[in-house]
Amino acid sequence: MNGFDHAVTENSATDGAGAPAVKTVLVAGGAGFVGARLCQRLLASGASVICVDNLQTGRMANIDPMMEEAMFRFIRHDIIAPLEFSAPVDEIYNLACPASPPKYQLDPVHTFKTSVLGALNLLGLARNKGARILQASTSEIYGDPLCSPQPESYLGNVNPVGPRSCYDEGKRAAETLFHDYGLQHGVSIKIARIFNTYGPGMAPDDGRVVSNFIIQALRGEPITIYGNGSQTRSFCFVDDLLDGLMLLMASPHEVSYPVNLGNETEFTVAELAKLVLAKTGSSSNTIHNALPIDDPRQRRPDIVLARRVLGWRPEVSLDAGLDRTIPWFRAQLAVALPSLEEVA
Ligand code: NAD
Ligand code: UDP
Repeated sequence: MNGFDHAVTENSATDGAGAPAVKTVLVAGGAGFVGARLCQRLLASGASVICVDNLQTGRMANIDPMMEEAMFRFIRHDIIAPLEFSAPVDEIYNLACPASPPKYQLDPVHTFKTSVLGALNLLGLARNKGARILQASTSEIYGDPLCSPQPESYLGNVNPVGPRSCYDEGKRAAETLFHDYGLQHGVSIKIARIFNTYGPGMAPDDGRVVSNFIIQALRGEPITIYGNGSQTRSFCFVDDLLDGLMLLMASPHEVSYPVNLGNETEFTVAELAKLVLAKTGSSSNTIHNALPIDDPRQRRPDIVLARRVLGWRPEVSLDAGLDRTIPWFRAQLAVALPSLEEVA
């Protein structure tokens, strides 16, 4: 028995007949922003949760509150290496991959390996276990889109050799692997194309636009708008995304095609800066930094398919979502900043 067997069998609940009494769900990337909140939701639903994470961008602080729970196990592991254990697994969410551009660009080769080797390893596990598996894909597979909104049928406009390519092309290749494991090996696969998602639990040093702007506003530092701020994004609150992910996981076997999950309301980055300044009551000024290479000019999901197949649509506006997110960052900064006594 290896380390995984020990960690997992210890936790596997069985009924009197030896069959699994509760669903066992593996969340790869479960210590990250979305993953940790998903683990909490799964635990609340009565599932047994195995969180697998290499802590590259995830944080123990995100999962500390769950570590004492009998139905929760954490395994520190990099998914570019195979995972093997004898315990049953019913569902796998593959959320493992740094999602913030400055983070995934730090080690592009590892990012690509995470998407491709990680997908292969988890698909192999799903095949062995007879588990259903969901891939956290991304709107980035559309690259710098030439149409808006972007439906799933749009094939994308992606640069294969730019700073974002390790992420975009890795995620595209992962979709291909998922599709082919479904066709060739009959694995029950799900592909969620996730658009920009924010909320409590993002790492303060994450580097994505919502967390950057809130932290800069709260600290009274300049708000860093890249380029002229006319590029657009459509921001989805994390709990809306989790509803969509869980509905997709529970959807019929035939729903094996990619499904967009995102909020349809589009904002320019300059509009986001204004909103964050107003909501935080900050007197920060805005400055303009260089626009990163290949930064998509527009992004807005077409969610007709998600509405039709899952009956899903986001409920939380950006306005309401920021009201839930800003206090969380305020609390983080209060903890992170040294007290006056410590400074003295
Ligand atoms: P995140 O960076 O907060 O979380 C990613 C998690 O994966 C972290 O805990 C990290 O340590 C872990 N991880 C990274 N590489 C790993 C590896 N090789 N082995 C094991 N663990 C690894 O990002 P997030 O925002 O929570 O995103 C979760 C997933 O959703 C990612 O796959 C991301 O690509 C996808 N996604 C997110 C968004 C978004 O806006 N949040 C948008 C599109 C897609
Ligand atoms: N951005 C910005 N200031 C920041 C961080 C990001 O203007 O401090 C811009 C970035 O150039 C992009 C948008 O905000 O146009 C969203 O960036 P993010 O990194 O959050 O995600 P992306 O959608 O680019 O992957």
